[in-house]
Amino acid sequence: MGVTRVAIAGSTGSIGVQTLDVVAASDGAYEVVALAAGSSSAALIEQARAHRPQLVAVADPVARAEVAAALPWAEVTGDLADLAGTADVVVNAVVGFAGLPVTLATLREGRRLALANKESLIAAGPVVAPLRAVPGAEIVPVDSEHCAIHQCLRASGRPSHEVARLLLTASGGPFRGRTLDELRGVTVAEALRHPTWSMGPKITIDSSTLMNKGLEVIEAHELFGTGYDDIDVVVHPQSVVHSMVEFRDGSVIAQLSMPDMRLPIAYALGHPDRATVPYGRIDWTTMSRLDFAAPDTATFRCLSLAYAAGRTGGTAPAWLSAANEVAVAAFLDGALGWADIAAVIESTMDAHDGAVPTSSEDVLAADAAARQAARTVLAR
Ligand code: NAD
Ligand code: MG
Repeated sequence: MGVTRVAIAGSTGSIGVQTLDVVAASDGAYEVVALAAGSSSAALIEQARAHRPQLVAVADPVARAEVAAALPWAEVTGDLADLAGTADVVVNAVVGFAGLPVTLATLREGRRLALANKESLIAAGPVVAPLRAVPGAEIVPVDSEHCAIHQCLRASGRPSHEVARLLLTASGGPFRGRTLDELRGVTVAEALRHPTWSMGPKITIDSSTLMNKGLEVIEAHELFGTGYDDIDVVVHPQSVVHSMVEFRDGSVIAQLSMPDMRLPIAYALGHPDRATVPYGRIDWTTMSRLDFAAPDTATFRCLSLAYAAGRTGGTAPAWLSAANEVAVAAFLDGALGWADIAAVIESTMDAHDGAVPTSSEDVLAADAAARQAARTVLAR
């Protein structure tokens, strides 16, 4: 087998760095041909010097000039979509809506999209869906829950009409078991302290509100075509069962592994081949219990808001995700209380106009309108 060419958008972030780890551990199976980041020029320059990609994309113009000056041998661009044509597999590890051009361009080019950037699929579901029919185009999820479901479906090998429901597991985040009253005064530092995963700041806050799980419900609907009534969330604090598929006879197939994102990254790069090295091994002599509970949707209202937006469909998921990005940024800036994140999103959704996107322009317009609406709510 030849060397697989890999492009990494968001290479300086948590998933991006772990993707480079997987590449380094794969004995030359992968070659990094393109890297991209938002603005972290120093880290990007260091990565590029180590991997010598032909193309480097940088969103921020100032950082781009620094990168171009430091890497005279590389082609340096501002357009993340340029990555799509360079590789066999494009890892989309950008955070937030900014990842949209990578998702769309990769599928349009008929390449494999190793998708960590759930926000692009959530915002553009109706536009992404037809692109999956482009010859060669394929989405292999990096998000651990969806990677687990991908593995469970593959293990069963049975058609979708035999699937009764998807069970997405959730760690519950740092505030599991707390009441809304106890959570009113929580600080940014407390919300950033995730019990089982070390991740970028945006998804860590999303995990503390359960919006991450809400976004993952929509992501699962888009990836696997499962109806919202047949997608359930189960709180599982140990993060060892990464998700499950229940079949119509009541049988459940689950995927278990230690919580290490390099496993789903390696799975998405190598599919259908499994990685040649283990990313953690479960010690069954010390793993004495695995707990499961229902989510507390009264305290963690973002989960219900996400189900509602998913069921509305059209541009509602784009609005939800945009409003969430605005609210989380305000929380991280100290301008909004943790408990008000859900309230800002709910009020923003009241202004949603019920449109259905048919083009990427429609998706961009929906995102812009939702951000405007969310900022208006924040200013009240
Ligand atoms: P991060 O904040 O650590 O990294 C984000 C990356 O995106 C950085 O490289 C940054 O330079 C880049 N970026 C930001 N804005 C950009 C822009 N405008 N244009 C181009 N690049 C830009 O985030 P992360 O935790 O690695 O998460 C990345 C994505 O993966 C998110 O969608 C997240 O939900 C998803 N995800 C992450 C994890 C995890 O363990 N970290 C797990 C599951 C899913
Ligand atoms: Mg996840």
